[in-house]
Amino acid sequence: MSLAGKVAVVTGGSRGIGRAVCLRFAAMGAKVVINYVSRPDAAEETKAQVEALGGECYIVQFDVASASEVQEAFKQITAECGRIDILVCNAGITRDGLLATMKEEDWDQVMSVNLKGAFNCIKAGCRPMMKQRWGRIIIITSVVGFAGNAGQANYAAAKAGLVGLTRSAARELASRFITVNCVAPGYIATDMTGELPEKVKEKILAEIPLGILGAPEDIAAAAAYLASDDAKYVTGQAIHVNGGMFMG
Ligand code: NDP
Repeated sequence: MSLAGKVAVVTGGSRGIGRAVCLRFAAMGAKVVINYVSRPDAAEETKAQVEALGGECYIVQFDVASASEVQEAFKQITAECGRIDILVCNAGITRDGLLATMKEEDWDQVMSVNLKGAFNCIKAGCRPMMKQRWGRIIIITSVVGFAGNAGQANYAAAKAGLVGLTRSAARELASRFITVNCVAPGYIATDMTGELPEKVKEKILAEIPLGILGAPEDIAAAAAYLASDDAKYVTGQAIHVNGGMFMG
């Protein structure tokens, strides 16, 4: 599977799953645009790892939740690279808490970054793809968007929203040969899950038939397939990569 000559924008490419996607795409020959919001050190580390593979990349800082920042950044990227072929909407946050006591700002923040962030990036990123009459949009949702999760009503609602966004965008953009799919990870070993208490991790592991947490590379492999020509007839779908913890 080659992505030679393609330009791929990966939101939240500085760490975790996003970094693994950047490395996988770079290894396949794509030029990678690494986005981050607040950790330039992490973005520089991704850049160094991409370059160590012989890949080409550059870093762009923007907050996916800000429509104006996203628009400006995508204008810059298109001017600099001449095109955008692949967009991975990966940036995400958690602000966990029980529904009955969840703060309004925790609801709003998760919706703004996880759901509106993808809308902002798709809106800006689909324009060059429409002109090119080719594109791949890959959205990172979550197992909890399908199964739900106590303590994550905001996150699960945003992630379920991404599934509806995927299917609607897939229908709207199909005539321009732009496919839109999502990957739904289970529990993957990153900073996000590193924050979970040991007891919670043990409980999660007990629910995973394969008995281990996933690796960021497992998600990157699914994204690589969706970005490739092998997936040209796949659109509006969700690929579940979760060790069997949810079989939807
Ligand atoms: P991490 O917490 O390790 O990394 C999050 C990334 O998102 C960072 O690169 C961060 O940038 C970036 N980011 C956060 N907010 C913004 C923003 N407003 N604008 C731009 N970038 C932002 O997360 P993971 O790698 O674990 O998760 C990646 C995606 O996968 C998320 O959407 C998450 O919901 C999803 N997911 C993760 C699972 C897991 O088990 N880990 C399971 C299911 C889904 P910076 O470095 O600057 O902070």
